[in-house]
Amino acid sequence: MRVLLFDIDGTLIRSGGAGKYSMEAALQAAFGLTEIRDRVSYSGRTDRAIIHDLLLLHDLAATPENARLLEAAYLAHLPEALATREGLVLPGIVETLARKHDGIAIGLLTGNVAAGAAIKLKHYGLADHFAFGGFADNLSRRDDVARRAFAEAERHLNMKLDPANVWVIGDTPADVQCARAIGAKAIAVQTGWHTPEELAAAGPDHLFPDFTHARELWPVWGMME
Ligand SMILES: [Mg+2]
Repeated sequence: MRVLLFDIDGTLIRSGGAGKYSMEAALQAAFGLTEIRDRVSYSGRTDRAIIHDLLLLHDLAATPENARLLEAAYLAHLPEALATREGLVLPGIVETLARKHDGIAIGLLTGNVAAGAAIKLKHYGLADHFAFGGFADNLSRRDDVARRAFAEAERHLNMKLDPANVWVIGDTPADVQCARAIGAKAIAVQTGWHTPEELAAAGPDHLFPDFTHARELWPVWGMME
């Protein structure tokens, strides 16, 4: 059995900034802030880590209660933000997902919390393709999300997996790094916010301009033309 674990933002979709917009709207709604400071990195990071940094940057205590408040407000704003922003499903994703078969399992490995991931995938019509995944609920480090995704894949498939048959697909150096944390192969795609040089420096097994180039791996995955 082979397993593909997909990142969401910058890999499956681009949301036109809806995620960041929702988080900033949530800061205003949950804490009455009028000035949003825009110095937190989102790319390749977990929602929990982003929320932690946003709280501190706005002189709010990074308590579990404040994190829960901000996350709830973020999730409340997300559907409308997705509906009003110009996003897209990235090239090569739909055609690859359409080639699922018995020998391959397709899941998620994302810094999103599960509820946020579900909202995004539903909006873009991708939700039905992913039966399991590792999400960032209660986890800050992406390497831990990768371990969770691997465990969820084994649980969903009810079998032990060889990490050499697992591919992690993402748009950031952090995606490549977390693949290594579980001994998996790494595919980096240049459809996010990182330069080819930055991605190459992380040492992925494959570096593609976009996921249409993953067609060269279809024979490896047992996918037919
Ligand atoms: Mg990403």
